[in-house]
Amino acid sequence: MHNIWLPYTDMTSSIPERTVRSGEGVYLHLDNKISLIDGISSWWSVIHGYNHPKLNGALQKQIEKISHVMLGGVTHEPVIQLAEKLIQITPSSLNHVFFSDSGSTGVEVALKMALQYWKNKNQAQKNKFIALKKGYHGDTLGAMSVSDPEEGMHSLFSDILPRHFFINPPSKDQATKSLDELGGLLKAQGSTIAGIILEPLLQAAGGFNIYNPSYLIEIKKLCALHGVLCITDEVATGFGRTGTLFAVNQAPIDPDIMILGKGLTGGYLGMAATLASTEIFTSFFHKSPFMHGPTFMGNPLACKVALKSIEIFEEERYLLKIARIEAQLKAELLPIQHPDILDTRVLGAMGVIEVQKASVLEGFQDFAVKEGVWLRPFGRYLYTMPAYIMTEEELTKVIRVMKDWFYKEKRDV
Ligand SMILES: *Cc1c(COP(=O)(O)O)cnc(C)c1O
Repeated sequence: MHNIWLPYTDMTSSIPERTVRSGEGVYLHLDNKISLIDGISSWWSVIHGYNHPKLNGALQKQIEKISHVMLGGVTHEPVIQLAEKLIQITPSSLNHVFFSDSGSTGVEVALKMALQYWKNKNQAQKNKFIALKKGYHGDTLGAMSVSDPEEGMHSLFSDILPRHFFINPPSKDQATKSLDELGGLLKAQGSTIAGIILEPLLQAAGGFNIYNPSYLIEIKKLCALHGVLCITDEVATGFGRTGTLFAVNQAPIDPDIMILGKGLTGGYLGMAATLASTEIFTSFFHKSPFMHGPTFMGNPLACKVALKSIEIFEEERYLLKIARIEAQLKAELLPIQHPDILDTRVLGAMGVIEVQKASVLEGFQDFAVKEGVWLRPFGRYLYTMPAYIMTEEELTKVIRVMKDWFYKEKRDV
């Protein structure tokens, strides 16, 4: 019997023994002396690769001072610095940061902030959210309630989740249908809507759907027109994944609330940041305080490693690295064709092959491991989201393994 309960995994039978001993750059070194190129950077978070000397150094320095202190009633230099930095690099509408410990929690914080905001404005009836089908916002109850209710991973819980509104998402070249749907919904229900929550430009875990920046501009206009908050979940898209520091930079728009996670600490420690506008922040003055406070919020180690991560991103001009990865994905992954393949898509440092049926990808992971690559497809999606330090040769290998899967003669060797 297994001691460790793995995520999203049927624990009935034995699972492959893969114990990671260490990591170095894009490589995972396993106990059995096998090394794998990580093509998904540990759920897209380890953007600088593993065991980065500068990130290690930042942690070592901070650990000598203090590893943790509560944020209730005191602050500390790392959290002050990180809040300042995040406010500086995010859209100008966002001037206040609430820290928490995971993307899901960051989403819960955003939803609660929005709900309390409307209570503060004496409009407590605005307590529903609009979300996009194919969206994914996390695994906690509130986050599940705004994630895709049918196709997503949470349909098991649909009977107990709060009911919100879902609209069809835009696609690469079709946004009007979605916007018309949203316009209609806002006209009919606007007085009960607290906000719309969406992943800008790239809906990640819900189906790797890519859409046009102009959609975001229209969304923001509709939000302003109907008095609902615009909440952008950049847990996956933040820190360069779509080709700009944040996906909203490509529109550009000023969200009312924005959530960061995953790449925030370079994948070193669990941390999320929920940023809010001054309008939202000041609505709490002389009212009930914001009722949330994770024990480990603003952890000094996480703050320091996040600061160092952002510094490296800027100094080593990561946007150029990401542009190179995008160009290579477009050149090598987009043209892959096979009858089992429905579509291939690339945006920034993300490339996905969507297949006709999930069964097509059964056994892929073992195949990739044999080839020296770590990838974890789910559903009908075989994707890569590499660390931005991945070299051209390494990325070519990742893409080649994705491609070879579809050519049986190579697979059976
Ligand atoms: C991963 C993800 C989350 C949840 O983050 P966790 O750290 O896993 O809780 C939320 N939103 C988006 C867009 C994500 O990709």
